[in-house]
Amino acid sequence: MGNPKAFLEIRRQEAGYRPLHDRILDFGEVEQTLNTRERKLQASRCMDCGVPFCHWACPLGNKPPEWNDALYKGEWELAYRLLSATNPFPEFTGRICPALCEKACVLNLTVHEPTTNREDEAAITEAAFREGYIAVHHPVRNGRRVAVIGSGPAGLAAANELNLKGYQVTVFEKNESAGGLLRYGIPNFKLNKAIIDRRMRLLEQEGIVFRFGESITLDAACFLFQEYDAIVIATGTPVARDLPIPGRELKGVHFALELLAQQNRVLAGMEFRKDERITAKGKDVLVIGGGDTGSDCIGTAHRQGCKSVTQIEIMPRPVEGPDDPQNPWPNYPRTLKTTSSHEEGCVRRWNINTLEFLGTNGKLTGVKVQEIDWKPNPAGGRPLMVEKGNPEIIKAEIVLLAMGFLKPEHPSYPENVFVCGDAANGASLVVRAMASGIQTARKVDNYLK
Ligand SMILES: Cc1cc2nc3c(=O)[nH]c(=O)nc-3n(C[C@H](O)[C@H](O)[C@H](O)COP(=O)(O)OP(=O)(O)OC[C@H]3O[C@@H](n4cnc5c(N)ncnc54)[C@H](O)[C@@H]3O)c2cc1C
Ligand code: SF4
Repeated sequence: MGNPKAFLEIRRQEAGYRPLHDRILDFGEVEQTLNTRERKLQASRCMDCGVPFCHWACPLGNKPPEWNDALYKGEWELAYRLLSATNPFPEFTGRICPALCEKACVLNLTVHEPTTNREDEAAITEAAFREGYIAVHHPVRNGRRVAVIGSGPAGLAAANELNLKGYQVTVFEKNESAGGLLRYGIPNFKLNKAIIDRRMRLLEQEGIVFRFGESITLDAACFLFQEYDAIVIATGTPVARDLPIPGRELKGVHFALELLAQQNRVLAGMEFRKDERITAKGKDVLVIGGGDTGSDCIGTAHRQGCKSVTQIEIMPRPVEGPDDPQNPWPNYPRTLKTTSSHEEGCVRRWNINTLEFLGTNGKLTGVKVQEIDWKPNPAGGRPLMVEKGNPEIIKAEIVLLAMGFLKPEHPSYPENVFVCGDAANGASLVVRAMASGIQTARKVDNYLK
């Protein structure tokens, strides 16, 4: 530990976002970076606690005290080696991880000023790419072949781990490029897609073969069973939760990912016919669902030039502040989250149920909603929804459904087929998908050994 008293003298400093009037005009990443001196000072705040909860809280088992110490001492290459020992793609988590480790940081639990692990992680990784600390591995082949279906963070992490262990890995991906939701869900203003391309070049140089535009159905998987010793399914959660209420068929009602994926493809240079293009430009937008996907729709709608955005959520408003006394640590704090997209302008409402989509000539014009309350259920179980006042109409020409994804169901597979990431566990986080991919690769290795 470099400076045992730094946490008493130096306050947490986040790099923050680009100024609102500037960032809203483009899809560039919104997060800024600290300079080297400030970054090292932030790293010095890590106390190397006797029992560091951050190790346990990070699904990858990352060791922030170790790389923070190296970073504080200016040993960037060592910091990267320590970080990449547990995290295969820290350039992704360094940008978009909700930093479960920081929630568990002793400095969070005591003074609500955790170390800036996520930003430190991004800084270490960018320095490693810039300075050429990242070596291309040339694993010795063991003669076994593994197919990975899906190239999201789970599939990429599984492929990387197996490749490094000597397996010849082929990744089958139905999209035209790799990344899964990293590329076709998460907006560019949170994760620039050049970051994924950069990692892809490395993975390809290390020997992983990618076959794009190949959707592997269960029937078609038969040929894989003959050609590969094991198969890893990492196909995510492809089915979004729908809202089958009157008016669902109206033009203007979309799943969030229809908008987000298309916008990312447009930024990648793909062209769409005018009648295919989904855009919030000049429109009043209603986002249904109060989570992160909804927040990404808000930021995208602003950059497309919407007139207004409202986000509604059926559940009550979460508590404000660093802690929810009803849900204390070690549970993840379910407190009110205000993202960069919310800061860009949005009416946020909670306890709102959606009754009907309204329209004229087949086009959406508004949404009938009802304010509600949740009352304890005397019979136990899920609280009861009770209406408050009369229904109202929210004007909207576009609605984005951001209410989560259905957990996939799987048949029983032969013993050499493994499932990981969101496909196995339901919609979650990039860091969890990566951890699941790595653990699954180790199971494949044990099985084949
Ligand atoms: C809008 C949005 C924003 C998010 N923001 C964040 C965030 O900021 N931070 C965070 O930690 N998490 C975030 N998440 C969650 C995170 O993206 C996912 O948990 C993670 O991507 C899951 O990884 P995965 O590899 O299991 O699945 P996916 O990323 O969904 O990848 C699955 C891949 O499998 C491919 N595939 C599917 N079926 C087939 C088939 N039959 N044949 C071939 N290929 C197939 C798909 O095309 C896809 O490429 C967000 C999710 C969404 C929707
Ligand atoms: S991956 Fe996420 S939880 Fe793990 S150390 Fe990095 S920021 Fe923390």
